[in-house]
Amino acid sequence: MKTIANYSVSMEILKRYERRAKKHFGQNFMIDPSVVRNIATYSGEGGTVLEIGPGLGALTQQLAERYDRVIAYEIDPHMVEILKETLEDYDNVEIIYQDFLKADLSAFKEPITICANLPYYITTPILFKLMELDIIAMTILVQKEISDRLTAHPQTKEYSALSIQMQYYFDIKTVMKVSKESFHPRPNVESSVIKFVPREHSLPYDEQTFFTFVKKCFQFRRKTLVNNLKTIDKEVNYAEILESLGLDPSIRADYLTLDDYVRLYGALYA
Ligand code: SAM
Repeated sequence: MKTIANYSVSMEILKRYERRAKKHFGQNFMIDPSVVRNIATYSGEGGTVLEIGPGLGALTQQLAERYDRVIAYEIDPHMVEILKETLEDYDNVEIIYQDFLKADLSAFKEPITICANLPYYITTPILFKLMELDIIAMTILVQKEISDRLTAHPQTKEYSALSIQMQYYFDIKTVMKVSKESFHPRPNVESSVIKFVPREHSLPYDEQTFFTFVKKCFQFRRKTLVNNLKTIDKEVNYAEILESLGLDPSIRADYLTLDDYVRLYGALYA
C-alpha cells in the first residue's frame, strides 16, 4: 500500500488523471508523510471520524488506518473519481460527493470526531457548520492566521469575536506548526494544526443572540467599544454602563474577556 502523502506519489496521480490542484477549491495537498501521520495520531483512533475535503486521500488514508469508519465530504468530482482508486483498499471509508456547507448533518446523531486539512477559503464557515454536530474532539489544519485568531487572548490584535465564541465552546491548543513545504502547491503562508476539545459551558442567555452581540462589539476594530455599541442603539449611555461594571469607557472591544461580555450583556439586556 503506497503512502499517498508523498510528493512523487501525489504528482504521479495528478498526472495520470490529467488534473492540477484547483485554487478555487483551496486545494493544497499534503505531501509530507510524517506531518500527515502526526495529524492523524493527534486526532486519535477508534469509532467514526469525519473529514472535510479528502483531496487525493493523503489524510483519509491515515485516518482509515486508525478509525473504524471514515466519512469524508469532497466538493470536487475529479477528486471523488481519484479517491475511488487511491482508497480502494479501505472498505471503512465513505466518500460523500457534496459541498460540506450544504450538507444535512441531522443524520449524525452520535458524538463524532473531526479531522481535516480545511480549504482555507471557507475555514470559518466550515467551523460554524461543524458547530451543528456533537463533537468529541476536532483536529484541524488551518492557516496560521486562523489558528492565531482561534487561540488568541484579550488585548492582542488577533483576539476577535471568533476567538471568544470558539473558546467558549472548546479548549483550543496549537499542537503542531506546518511549513509551506509540506504542501503541493505551496501556500503563501505557514499553517498550524489545532486541537479542539469541548469544555463545560453555560450562559444565562440565548447563545446565538449573545454571540451576535459580541460580533457587533468588534464590528469596527479601530473604534472604541462605546462607538461600536452606539450602532446597536445610539440613545443608550454605554459609557456609564461600562463604568458601572468597573470598565474604562474608552476601551476597545479586544480588552474584554468572555466574562466581561457576559456582565455587559447582563447589564444591558437582563
Ligand atoms: N485532505 C487533502 C490533503 O490534506 O492533502 C486535501 C486538503 S485541501 C487543503 C482541501 C480539500 O477540500 C480539497 O480537496 C477541496 O477540493 C476540498 N473542498 C473545498 N471546498 C469544499 C467544500 N465546500 N466541501 C467539501 N470539500 C471541499
